[in-house]
Amino acid sequence: MSVASGRGTRLRLSEIFASIQGESTRVGLPTVFVRLTGCPLRCVWCDTEYAFSGGETRALDDILGMVASFGLRHVCVTGGEPLAQKGCLALLEALCDAGYSVSLETSGALDIAPVDPRVARIVDLKAPGSGEEGRNRGENIGHLRAGDEIKIVLADEADYLWARTQIAAHRLAERCEVLLSPVAGRLVPAELAEWIVRDRLPVRFQLQLHKVLWADARGR
Ligand code: SF4
Repeated sequence: MSVASGRGTRLRLSEIFASIQGESTRVGLPTVFVRLTGCPLRCVWCDTEYAFSGGETRALDDILGMVASFGLRHVCVTGGEPLAQKGCLALLEALCDAGYSVSLETSGALDIAPVDPRVARIVDLKAPGSGEEGRNRGENIGHLRAGDEIKIVLADEADYLWARTQIAAHRLAERCEVLLSPVAGRLVPAELAEWIVRDRLPVRFQLQLHKVLWADARGR
């Protein structure tokens, strides 16, 4: 969809705020977060259940205006599952056209192919402990580019061993950056760090920096 045809687009917006990027290789960067409402998945450890419903419907141009008001260069479109809204593609394109450095956080369950190529796609690969392993869209792996990132959130050692197998089987680290994160309160971060070093896994360990800074405060 071109921006010209997408300008009449309306999206269901859960929240929009400025914060420090807590994940991905962009960690630490001041970023505007555009959180869209809705998600077709139900990961057992989901920390944004409040975004499953509610929010308000806003025109694409209004959202662009709100983003501009923060005066930041980096924008992260997240959810929920932002790609569940058709208008998300037009929003991403419009943000790129406006000159922002744009990232998208997506569950990996929906097609990432139509996303504007200027967007850095942070794509989840759901491990068994999420309860949503069956929703992984295998075709997405073939669409990954060097600027994208695969994120695997791990609840326990079984999830880690599963991730290790997936990384080898699909040569994920040769396609893009691979991020491994522990589920907060479920897997001791130091244990995951030790397994990664022990196995010489070609990944990046990450903790959710925003939780270190602000715990689970909403809008952070
Ligand atoms: S895909 Fe993301 S927003 Fe949806 S249930 Fe899973 S963790 Fe929550």
